[in-house]
Amino acid sequence: MPTIKELKGQLKQKTDKAPEKYYPVEKLKEKGFQRSRCKNCGKYFWVQGESELCGDPECSGQYTFIGDSPCSKKMDFIKAWQEFSKLFEKLGYTPIKRYPVVARWRDDTYWTNASIYDFQPHVVSGLVEPPANPLVVPQVCMRFNDIDNVGITGRHYTSFVMIGQHAFVPPDQKFDKNQYISDMMDWLEIGMGLPLHEVKFHEDQWGDGGNLGVCMEFFARGLEIGNQVYMLYDVKDDGTYKDLNLKVLDMGMGQERCPWMSMGTATSYECNFPTVVKKLYKETGVKPNQDVIKRFLPYSGLLDMEEDKSIDKTWEEIAEKLSMDVKNLKEETLPLAGLYSIGDHARTLLFAITDGALPSNVGGAYNLRIILRRALGFIDEFGWDVSLQDVCREHAAYLKPQYPELTETVDDLQKIFEIEEKRYQSTKAKSIKIVSRLLEKGFSDAELVSLYDSNGISPEILKEEAKNIGKEIKVPADFYSKVAELHPEVERAKKKDEFNVSGIQPTNILYYSQKGLSFDATVLKVIDKKKIILDKTVFFPTGGGQEHDIGKLNDLNVIDVQKAGGGTVVVHILEKSGLKKGDKVHGVVDKNRRMALSKLHTAAHVIGGAARKVLGSHIWQAGSQIDPNKGRLDITHYKALTEDEKKQIEKLANETIKKGTKISKNVKNKKEAESKYGFTLYQGGAIPGKDIRVVEIPSWDVQACAGTHLDNVSEIIEKPIHNIANTVVDTVDAVMESANGYKQVAETAFETMESIKCLL
Ligand SMILES: [Zn+2]
Ligand SMILES: [Zn+2]
Repeated sequence: MPTIKELKGQLKQKTDKAPEKYYPVEKLKEKGFQRSRCKNCGKYFWVQGESELCGDPECSGQYTFIGDSPCSKKMDFIKAWQEFSKLFEKLGYTPIKRYPVVARWRDDTYWTNASIYDFQPHVVSGLVEPPANPLVVPQVCMRFNDIDNVGITGRHYTSFVMIGQHAFVPPDQKFDKNQYISDMMDWLEIGMGLPLHEVKFHEDQWGDGGNLGVCMEFFARGLEIGNQVYMLYDVKDDGTYKDLNLKVLDMGMGQERCPWMSMGTATSYECNFPTVVKKLYKETGVKPNQDVIKRFLPYSGLLDMEEDKSIDKTWEEIAEKLSMDVKNLKEETLPLAGLYSIGDHARTLLFAITDGALPSNVGGAYNLRIILRRALGFIDEFGWDVSLQDVCREHAAYLKPQYPELTETVDDLQKIFEIEEKRYQSTKAKSIKIVSRLLEKGFSDAELVSLYDSNGISPEILKEEAKNIGKEIKVPADFYSKVAELHPEVERAKKKDEFNVSGIQPTNILYYSQKGLSFDATVLKVIDKKKIILDKTVFFPTGGGQEHDIGKLNDLNVIDVQKAGGGTVVVHILEKSGLKKGDKVHGVVDKNRRMALSKLHTAAHVIGGAARKVLGSHIWQAGSQIDPNKGRLDITHYKALTEDEKKQIEKLANETIKKGTKISKNVKNKKEAESKYGFTLYQGGAIPGKDIRVVEIPSWDVQACAGTHLDNVSEIIEKPIHNIANTVVDTVDAVMESANGYKQVAETAFETMESIKCLL
């Protein structure tokens, strides 16, 4: 199969020849734009008047809006979305709320990286209706691939807001590119007061995730403002492509870019978190030397750590260009870069923690620990009296008009930061010995990275220690990116279907609807003599953290039950062979085991709800395992639970069980369920398909869950009340943090083993 790059190349040949078939040429011409070809890179672009070079800074040179904005309107970050959403509402779009930065509705990514992520895969595929159509959304996106550039280049962030303009258009409706680009032109011209003769639209091709399309990137004065993608084709395995069922408009514009263009400040941070920058100037005493910064920034891009390997040399070159001494230049710029990084990192942490992520040692959340330590490292290095918590508070206050939810969680951050800081300090203390030994023997870049990864020793700590003994060490410029690379965001371990069930109809599932545990069915297929597929079943197959049922088909023991065929077919595994295709069977599910599983599964939901009430809204289910003897619930918490916290959770859980609450279990349309309950639904992970089964313990816990559940929480216990204590008390047990002190996900296991035994 050709690569996406090759496919884009093929498509480019077509778009180069017949742009009117792919791009909104009609509107561009109407607005006085002409097609031109960049004499540097050869790309086609559209511009009013004459221009030989496209808008890419590689071709047209450095930013020319700094200190000289072409916009007649001035806006800060907050005003940008206010104005944008107001205009687009008038144009017929519905502004919707952002989605969480942790993409819990997907199983292929940890973070939300772009506004279109909100609608992948099911809205884009046409399975699920969009929340509005067309719509605009201020989506907070996390991107940790440029950590080392944040602060220094004036434009990099670990999180930014992508304003999305989206439309999902079925074949019988018009996919109106001319209108979409016209709406964006209105924003640039009317909304931002940016004259269109300043804007260059680039013809480009786009491909991702099995889809192919074309796009128009738009630039002004060397700055890319946004990119309007028209998703058109579905790419097949052989590399041919056909029209998508649903054509999708995917325009993404950095909200941070609009204020920057309109204000022309030296860095993009000053206009995007103005109150935070001011506060940090005041607290650190760092004052930007406007003259140096203004002269330095056009070259700061050269320090792009990823692309540049010889960082020292680049510093020297820049200093020479500015006729400055390197040491002097660094003294003027590095503290500022640290200060802006603190601002950026605090904002990212605020969004991420609000949405239920925690600095951790695993998966995508590892990046949060990296940036938290990087921020603490700057505070240490420059000896500043800065509280990250206060910086977050300032962010939350500033962002309140756009994201009021941040003010509600900002207080929770204090505890998390305190603990993380303690860990950081203790690592530092422990590391002194290791460091002095290392400094004597020398080390490679790889060793440096692994030193951080396994012992938490950051280059900042290392540098400081080295300085104390009069040595200097070199740290690779892309250090943090290298560390992040060691921690893939999502570890995918998808099991392949072991059973060949092609041609078999989906099993009619009775375990949700039927109260009784016996049924009659017909054998549709027998695999390897002992694996039986029926037309219908009451047997629950292993899935969603819950173990399978056991029981009998006629007089044969069912010892395992699994899903196959993408979850649509149930396979019963017998102890002995004895059935053939067409046989009529009478099935009976083992009641004791089913009850034990249902009780423990329901108990897991009760305890999860109790943990959230006791520990805070950041509590998410990180995993659960329900087998008949015990249940385990992993929750995301920033430290091991104290005895007191455990007791409180137990108490609350028991009170709820005692009180008794009806549990509702309903299959609901995904769109409606998401808008009613939010993404806390996906505690147990992303759920494929159009509909989801919502299990709700009112005002306590609500989840999309496929497990078997009781009808009332009081059924967890059937014994007299004094036994309740035994059920959950003794049972909530937090697994200790690992020896090095920063295994993050506090694993809370609850084992109702004894009590369940006594119940049955
Ligand atoms: Zn060019
Ligand atoms: Zn569940």
